Amino acid sequence: MTPILRIALPVPLHGWFDYRSPTAVPPAPGSRVLVPFGRRRVVGIVLEAVATSEVGDGQLKTAERVLDEHPLLTAELMTTLRRAARYYQHPLGEVLQAALPVALRSARELPESGAPALRLTPAGEAVLADPGRRRGTRIDALLQALAGGARTTADLETGLGTVATAARTAVARGWVERQRLAAAAAVPAAVAGPPLNEEQQAATEAIAAADGYAPFLLDGVTGSGKTEVYLQAIRRCLERGRQALVLVPEIALTPQALKRFRERLGVEVAVLHSGLGETERARAWLAAARGEAQVILGTRSALFVPLPRAGMIVVDEEHDASYKQQEGFRYHARDLAVLRAKALGVPVVLGSATPSLESLANVEAGRYQRLRLRHRAGLAQPPSLRVVDLRRQRLQHGFAPVTLGAIADCLARDEQVLVFKNRRGYAPVLLCHDCGWSAQCPHCERAMTVHRRDGRLRCHHCGYESAPPRACPDCGGLALNPLGQGTERLEEALAERFPQAPIVRVDRDTTRGRRARDALFDRLPDTGARILVGTQMLAKGHDLPHLTLVVVVGADEGLFSVDFRAAERLGQLVVQVAGRAGRAERPGAVILQTHDPAHPLLAVLLDGGYRALATQLLKDRRAAGLPPFAHFALLRAEAKSPQALDAFLRAAMAKIDANGLLAHGPLAAPMPLRAGAHRGQILLEAAVRGELQAFLPRWLDALRELPGTRAVRWSIDVDPVDL
Ligand code: ADP
Ligand code: ZN
Ligand code: ZN
Repeated sequence: MTPILRIALPVPLHGWFDYRSPTAVPPAPGSRVLVPFGRRRVVGIVLEAVATSEVGDGQLKTAERVLDEHPLLTAELMTTLRRAARYYQHPLGEVLQAALPVALRSARELPESGAPALRLTPAGEAVLADPGRRRGTRIDALLQALAGGARTTADLETGLGTVATAARTAVARGWVERQRLAAAAAVPAAVAGPPLNEEQQAATEAIAAADGYAPFLLDGVTGSGKTEVYLQAIRRCLERGRQALVLVPEIALTPQALKRFRERLGVEVAVLHSGLGETERARAWLAAARGEAQVILGTRSALFVPLPRAGMIVVDEEHDASYKQQEGFRYHARDLAVLRAKALGVPVVLGSATPSLESLANVEAGRYQRLRLRHRAGLAQPPSLRVVDLRRQRLQHGFAPVTLGAIADCLARDEQVLVFKNRRGYAPVLLCHDCGWSAQCPHCERAMTVHRRDGRLRCHHCGYESAPPRACPDCGGLALNPLGQGTERLEEALAERFPQAPIVRVDRDTTRGRRARDALFDRLPDTGARILVGTQMLAKGHDLPHLTLVVVVGADEGLFSVDFRAAERLGQLVVQVAGRAGRAERPGAVILQTHDPAHPLLAVLLDGGYRALATQLLKDRRAAGLPPFAHFALLRAEAKSPQALDAFLRAAMAKIDANGLLAHGPLAAPMPLRAGAHRGQILLEAAVRGELQAFLPRWLDALRELPGTRAVRWSIDVDPVDL
């Protein structure tokens, strides 16, 4: 009997598909196979081989071809991904596909790993052995250089200069062939770091001593030397011949970060992020899968690299929102990292200066061990925090006079200022002073942002843009004024006020594309800028030794938001931005501008810092029954027709029958209209995670059966971070 394969396909359907195995010995689980599917051929992943199928013999198709000799996805990864698919209620085929780099999702050949190299063919060896050959040519020099075996191009070029032309000719004549070699030789030996202080030492020892799964929260202020702890722990892990996976937020993976890891560890670091070409990504991924890459540094999706010799996982800045995937398979990389560490039986280190309330609650509950770094390394002092009351102040482009005074003082001392505002563009609103009309996006019914440099109005929600009207479309008045401040306007105001001080603005408008961003971050310490203006992109990055003043222009945005996580985010942001000030010997200062200086949370943050704020917020969340003390799942739906949306959400509500669950809805989404679609949602809440988990598959099955769902797009978000 031919074995039958259960195969997960990248289609939005739950369950698997049965095919006859194309080979007598079935491919191992985790292998890719090419199968006919409808009129297409698609790449699927083998889940298991079985003897019989429920599909009738006549209907059972045969898989076309097995693509991998060895399974691409390890047994542990298959287990973790199956659990993740179940937990996040996402089709397994799509989850498995999301784990693979794009280049490996098709039937094309695997890119080879390693550095480009050359070696002699038997024909080349014969030429070399011929005493009558032409000597003294570049080709002859190349053949001789390869006499002892294959060498990388880089290695050859240190002796011979450019070899490209000679190599091309030699390959054309069949004397030389191209291959790839592991490029370990290129990395210089590890550079020793500073001697660790006592707390760092203790943290490193605790991590290195962990035998098997052990979750740690490395809780240390910015500049307290968390990265030094990761590096030392990773070194110990490498000494045992194990691999280390390090996740960082998208914004923190700068060329400097990579350089630091490479230099300090003395090994090649495989990098995985969305800015790489597909082949490069696949190559790094395969290097990890083959156990060649010892250290893997990457952003969210790097979580899914196979780690055949796993030693530890690090999640740096574990509170960062970019770890949550916000579309398709909506996983949280930090949470899955813990799940993976458990499956792999390795320690996992979550590091942050401002730990998420989830992780702090896990410490409280005794599930995570907290390692603390209380002091900034070296001489650096913590920055002082100061609230500037904006009420009844005569503001100049959003700045209070005291703030401008502080900036002037700082510049006079020849130090650097960072001005932070979480809003790009010139102004968030264009308002008619005569009648109150404001420019709105016709597809979202939200204010359009004024971008002055290129003279456009843009909707930051759907991307719609238009030219600003010359006159008010309602009253014909000409007094159209930009209201409020974006980074572009702050930059303009500061340039006017401090004409001598060079300014650099950092936001998505000035850093289109990853390359531009890397280049800017690379130059940032040497731009000569005295003033940096930017969005949260500026909250992280490498050292700015002259930075001593941070101005948070609009602290109120976080205090008055409806989102229950807003205060946590504001606290994290303020502390993270503040952490950039005064890293060197000079003490830093932070100014928070607010219209509500008496806000209780602000007082807590000022008095006790993030720690006190987090304690207070955890208390509030517990009292209010909010995460992490309750478990949420959010059903989001959208439709062109408001009636279809309403009917769907009502029907979905009617299908909620479980005990131990609270359902809120149908609710309008925070943006009830976006890009022309009407949007609504249902929030499910449970005190016990298991009850929610048990109910969701049943509910989603029922939703798929509802009539008229074709007109509605919906998705489920387990543990949503934006409600
Ligand atoms: P974090 O990751 O917590 O922000 P880093 O590990 O980047 O902190 O350390 C901040 C700075 O302090 C770096 O320049 C680092 O080289 C330095 N540093 C860290 N630990 C020590 C130490 N034990 N002695 C001296 N300098 C240190
Ligand atoms: Zn008007
Ligand atoms: Zn819009």
